[in-house]
Amino acid sequence: MSSFPKLFIPGPTHVSQDVLDAFSTPQIGHRTPEISELINSITPRVQNLLYTQNHVYLVSHAATGLWEMGLRNSVKKGVLHAVNGAFSSKWATVSKTCGYHTQSIDFDWGCGVTVDAVDVALSTGEFDVFAMVHNETSTGVKSDLDAISNLLKTKYPNVLWLVDAVSSMAGIKIEVDKLGIDFILASTQKAWGLPAGFAICAISDRMLEKSASLENKGYFLDVLQYEKSYGKSQTPSTPSIPHLFGLQKVLNIIDEEGLENRWKRHKDCAEYTQNWVLAHGQSLYPEMDCRSETLTCIQNDQAWDINKINDALLSRGFRMDRGYGDLRGKAFRVAHMGNVYMKDLVDYLNEFDEVLKHV
Ligand code: PLP
Repeated sequence: MSSFPKLFIPGPTHVSQDVLDAFSTPQIGHRTPEISELINSITPRVQNLLYTQNHVYLVSHAATGLWEMGLRNSVKKGVLHAVNGAFSSKWATVSKTCGYHTQSIDFDWGCGVTVDAVDVALSTGEFDVFAMVHNETSTGVKSDLDAISNLLKTKYPNVLWLVDAVSSMAGIKIEVDKLGIDFILASTQKAWGLPAGFAICAISDRMLEKSASLENKGYFLDVLQYEKSYGKSQTPSTPSIPHLFGLQKVLNIIDEEGLENRWKRHKDCAEYTQNWVLAHGQSLYPEMDCRSETLTCIQNDQAWDINKINDALLSRGFRMDRGYGDLRGKAFRVAHMGNVYMKDLVDYLNEFDEVLKHV
């Protein structure tokens, strides 16, 4: 048994033993038929999970690098960011540090991205790219992709749409082609239930065309380098081969579970957690209709001593979240994604209840 606490934080999330075991598969060469076979067993199933025909890249670095890949391969005029939490704010900072013309629409934390505000900002014509976070991990807010999709399709068909799905991909149904998302990205330490340090993205044909018209993209994050390897089912540089074996294993687990069951399981876990929150006299931090299915952010109305609860849970073998950044102590989060099944969640919240009797 592991001497480390079981993780109920919103990433990295708990990785099950069978997935960890897949990481110790012997290494294979990254320019061999074996690697192409491995990648071929992964890519179509990721496309299936994302309901897309777009090319899927498997990248051996954190999602932060994909924020930058998205920008470098799409922005010509400028990029508009929707900012409603810590991660969307960081992405906007990445745009600034890359030197792009950029503007942020600031929403209150706890609120979702709204169509009207995006419409007003895009109507200036200053931006050819719109970037947003689907599921703000810092606040547990899930924004409505359908509404944004509708706006972009009807009024701004030439604007490329970049979506961070770091804490929603593989936990929440996202129909990429139907929505018309040009670049969707996630790292693997959230709802994929894999260790960190690896990420996945899917890119539209029109974004590939746009990328071909852009200069000074650098080399490492240039999607056209990925395209050269894509047809050979390889990656431009040596990938994290253990992650590829781990991802193959997770996809087998997802196949067994079934996609619709997986989406429903995450919804059920969210509902169970939300009811637990309300039954304890606490409230939900996100506004109505914006509550994430992969994590729940709880406003600490009862002024529970989060540090004491944390110590007690740790002594019982569980790692809780104490709130992100400025929210620490005021709001805290329960993650219910990836390898956290209903039984794990119920065990955790029962343990939490035991702790509450003593603090
Ligand atoms: N975007 C969101 C919504 C996140 O929650 C995180 C990390 O928690 C990131 C981006 C950054 O991911 P990574 O640490 O893999 O770069």
